[in-house]
Amino acid sequence: MTRIAELLAAGPTLSFEFFPPKTDEAGRQLEKTIHELAPLRPSFVSVTYGAGGSTRERTRDIVVQVNQEQSFPAMAHLTCVGHTRAQIEALLAEYADEGVCNILALAGDPPADGSDAGGDFTYATDLIEIVRAHPGTFSIGVAAHPELHPRSEGDRALDRRYLAAKLDAADFGITQFFFQVDDYLRMVDELQALGCTRPVLPGIMPAVNVAALVRMAAMNQAVIPAPLLERLEAVADQPDEVRRIGIEVSTELGRALLDAGAPGLHLYALNRSESVRRIVDALGLTPPPA
Ligand code: FAD
Repeated sequence: MTRIAELLAAGPTLSFEFFPPKTDEAGRQLEKTIHELAPLRPSFVSVTYGAGGSTRERTRDIVVQVNQEQSFPAMAHLTCVGHTRAQIEALLAEYADEGVCNILALAGDPPADGSDAGGDFTYATDLIEIVRAHPGTFSIGVAAHPELHPRSEGDRALDRRYLAAKLDAADFGITQFFFQVDDYLRMVDELQALGCTRPVLPGIMPAVNVAALVRMAAMNQAVIPAPLLERLEAVADQPDEVRRIGIEVSTELGRALLDAGAPGLHLYALNRSESVRRIVDALGLTPPPA
């Protein structure tokens, strides 16, 4: 399977993110979504990993299945907080055996109650070291936060130094979702000033549920601009209208990012195809039928 670092070197990429479903019905929904999105010929897709390994098998199974069945690679997210070195090495060996060669190396969040997560790791850079040392020759992505990581507590200079060091040890980044192009461009400029020129894919979250979007934005300390929030809250009980606004805003953001030279777009699909299909179409990125 193709390494994402090579895809990025070849030109702008288009990628979609999924999460592992919890029920059989949700599993069927994800299969349907992948089937509906495959004709868009994404450069790659990625599958999230539950905190502390709660979706270890489900994430692995979906990644392996997509890699086997589709013409595009699936990247496995992997978080290290709460894991031992042996657990991570075992999972990497399984991925390498199955031909999976793309890993998004993440710290993951420590327990919300402040208790010690245990395990051998604290930061994503600890995980990168192990993945890099593995004979599987993985292409390694990392998370980036245009509006700073929530645990950086506003120390912009330090956040950017850690991010630059992490990106330099990896191959590429993918951002948390954001709504202002300038936040992304400022992050790229700040990384460049530190000598870091690794490609960072902007992550775009099309709104489908206002309460969920507000909750996720608060968790990630992503600012939803007040005029957009007002528009969304005014139609919060009209799902079609929320989706329409989400598509419109994501399309505008995606266009501005590509015009500004972003190395591609990473769309948070939330295991549904409609918004993604309409955004890709509106951006003129839908490929002609094969
Ligand atoms: P790190 O890069 O380790 O950074 C965490 C914090 O520590 C930051 O504040 C950083 O500035 C600071 N820091 C870094 N290095 C050091 C150091 N040496 N000394 C002191 N401080 C340091 N979570 C999941 O559970 N599953 C997923 O699948 C998942 N997918 C994600 C996908 C994307 C694209 C993004 C953007 C996030 C994703 N997350 C996921 C969330 C992520 O796990 C959390 O944001 C987590 O809090 C931090 O992960 P990180 O890899 O950015 O951490």
